[in-house]
Amino acid sequence: MRITIAGTGYVGLVSGACLASTGNRVVGYDIDEGKIASLNAGRCPIYEPGLVELLSSNLKAGRLEFTADLSGALESPEVVFIAIGTPPGADGSADLSGVLGFCESLADRVSGPTILVIKSTVPVGTGDRIEALVKERSPHPIQVISNPEFLKEGTAVADFLRPDRVVIGSQDAQAAQILRELHLPFVRNQRPILVMSRRAAEMCKYAANACLAARISFINEIANLCDACGVDVDEVRRGMGTDTRIGFQFLYPGAGYGGSCFPKDIQALAQVARRAGIEPLVLEAVHRVNEAQKRLLFANIKRRFGESLRGMTCAVWGVTFKPETDDLRDAPALTLVDQLLEAGVTVRAHDPAGLENLRRHYGQRVACFEDAYRVLEGADFLTICTEWNEFRSPDFPHLCELLAQPIIFDGRNLYDLETVRRLGIEYHPIGRPAVNREP
Ligand code: NAD
Repeated sequence: MRITIAGTGYVGLVSGACLASTGNRVVGYDIDEGKIASLNAGRCPIYEPGLVELLSSNLKAGRLEFTADLSGALESPEVVFIAIGTPPGADGSADLSGVLGFCESLADRVSGPTILVIKSTVPVGTGDRIEALVKERSPHPIQVISNPEFLKEGTAVADFLRPDRVVIGSQDAQAAQILRELHLPFVRNQRPILVMSRRAAEMCKYAANACLAARISFINEIANLCDACGVDVDEVRRGMGTDTRIGFQFLYPGAGYGGSCFPKDIQALAQVARRAGIEPLVLEAVHRVNEAQKRLLFANIKRRFGESLRGMTCAVWGVTFKPETDDLRDAPALTLVDQLLEAGVTVRAHDPAGLENLRRHYGQRVACFEDAYRVLEGADFLTICTEWNEFRSPDFPHLCELLAQPIIFDGRNLYDLETVRRLGIEYHPIGRPAVNREP
């Protein structure tokens, strides 16, 4: 099948490469000419495990190409996927200008029947809006389908190749069947392809993200309660998660959620609710708890050292919003670093994949280190913001030698309390009792 994918970011690149890997001919289109030039030179602009290999094998096989030329991209596709960003607007609602602008151009250019698939996360009713827009501008039949994407950064390729489910929202059975056929190679393990109304599909994506974010904010609130009541949240978490109705996923307390989806999607869904005349009580609480949680590490640091931190040095391990990605968007680490810098603290940071983006964000204001131990040299304390694997079993004795004082603030609860107690490390996790803290 001839496919064009508009938007070659995390979703578009992964989807394009995976769809090419099953034999389709895929053209990736983006307005960012620098990104397209990089891709055509064989460089992958993002860090995503398995993506480089998939891109290069499909480029080499001639099934995948990239262009910034819109007319070329829309010459003869049978199916066009939209994976354009939908960032938050000023009031929190999804900014659809990129998506709608592309749909106008598409309607003006396609030369035959086309299936237009919206993969970007868009509010309920956007498909209806796009359908009206393309109908008005194009003489050709354009079927508009919602196919929300559930891949997770860090495991995006594996998620696309073996999804939990595929959701297809379509008003047209024939178009839905074509999309179903495109996805069959990815669900040979009997995972379901769910065909539903377009509006339900649009809502599905937001509801799923809101549910996951709610679990995180919920356990974070419980963690803070545990802290106030002298209870170890890890014991509580185990007591809860073993209930098969609850389970352990997304029940890990920490420094808050971030990334390019949860924060903006919760806000956008809340805006949809307000416009529909419904007060989004749960969604607002989920967001507010998370905003407060992102400031908790700094509050804990001040609780330990007092109000004035000026002149101190903090080493940070992990700046990306989660492990196995280079994505810093809305990462809790950024909130912490902003607060530290404002308080006059010198910040040194290490991250396995996010340093280039961190340098872009802070310039010279944060010292970046490729080495996880050099970053510790002379720092007054270490703060952990992302649970990269390489931080889980560090060389603790070496770490203690390098830090001016062996003090760790752990925003991801990585360490066994007994281990750090034995090593004499002063340890401040989230919702668990601090260890070796002098009275
Ligand atoms: P991204 O910012 O990584 O990529 C978006 C791309 O769209 C960029 O390369 C940008 O240059 C391009 N673009 C912007 N306007 C364009 C236009 N008019 N024409 C062509 N290209 C244009 O975004 P992303 O993380 O890939 O997310 C894309 C969409 O998918 C969003 O709606 C997001 O909510 C949703 N989504 C993201 C994830 C994720 O984990 N990142 C998961 C599921 C769904």
